[in-house]
Amino acid sequence: MEKKNIDWSNLGFGYVETEKRYVSNFKDGAWDNGALIDDPMITMSECAGVLQYAQTIFEGLKAYTTEDGHIVTFRPDLNAERMEASAKRLEMPVFPKERFVEAISQVVAANEAYVPPYGSGATLYIRPYMFGMNPVIGVKPATEYQFRAFCTPVGPYFKGGVKPLTIRVSDFDRAAPNGTGHIKAGLNYAMSLHAIVSAHAEGYDENMYLDPGTRTKVEETGGANFLFVTKDGKVVTPKSDSILPSITRRSLLYVAKEYLGLEVEEREVYLSELGDMAECGLCGTAAVISPVGKIVDHGKEICLPAGMTEMGPTTKKLYDTLTGIQMGRIEAPKGWIHVIK
Ligand SMILES: *Cc1c(COP(=O)(O)O)cnc(C)c1O
Repeated sequence: MEKKNIDWSNLGFGYVETEKRYVSNFKDGAWDNGALIDDPMITMSECAGVLQYAQTIFEGLKAYTTEDGHIVTFRPDLNAERMEASAKRLEMPVFPKERFVEAISQVVAANEAYVPPYGSGATLYIRPYMFGMNPVIGVKPATEYQFRAFCTPVGPYFKGGVKPLTIRVSDFDRAAPNGTGHIKAGLNYAMSLHAIVSAHAEGYDENMYLDPGTRTKVEETGGANFLFVTKDGKVVTPKSDSILPSITRRSLLYVAKEYLGLEVEEREVYLSELGDMAECGLCGTAAVISPVGKIVDHGKEICLPAGMTEMGPTTKKLYDTLTGIQMGRIEAPKGWIHVIK
């Protein structure tokens, strides 16, 4: 397979159109057989449920070329399960897990020429999503849906080296108590745009959102979960019903415990204890972990001892171990690596 002539190491995180995408339609209560198609455009009713009432959910995962030349994805079954939870919460039909994993495999294999080579630092980002397509004017769930998955090559996240982030404690909330914070729905991102644009305008990289009920506990950022390392070496992550359950964060906790022998805790984390933390990182598919150097709470600066120039030592070990597992340099726990070819 001849790879595309792409400058892999200088790719950013943007959309690059690839050749094939997977599509399946839901109508009259059933999914059709699905197929790979060429057309990247979608034509739908002006009154489609997704356009009027934002009935849309998505997932994000990556395909990698491993050290020994296989193309693999990382725990796609968990993306399928999370999409099932998102679908149920928004009254959408479930795209079956086996079919989800098969759709991912097909779209990656069909775009093999765009899977970045081992060692380039780049990866193939896969975006499965589903939306209500038939006309809906009274507020109710659509009856026809489309499931799609496309992929796009993305560059190394830490191009030009690791730069720890400066984040602010946000006055905006991202999720209501008993709301939709725990599902991956477009609506959670639409309402975060103003908060992130204003954070950037004020010189911050990200927002730290607090629990919307009491505004005393740490939740997450707009698109990544927090992981902290305490000064006595424990790995701590916030527990809350309104946090999106990051697959990266769940995998890192397992790695911390089972590979690195660290003590791990999933518990409520108060804003008032951040001064006791040695390291802080943001976990998600895009970066695996990006280190946070400074948290600003309304003028009060909390500087993480790990500093503003590199990853803290525990963050680095976690990052190296998980990326080693993903790239096939370190033996993976059973079921984590899904080989496509
Ligand atoms: C997708 C997402 C994450 C990260 O999840 P991963 O499965 O690790 O990619 C974290 N927070 C939010 C709000 C997200 O949408």
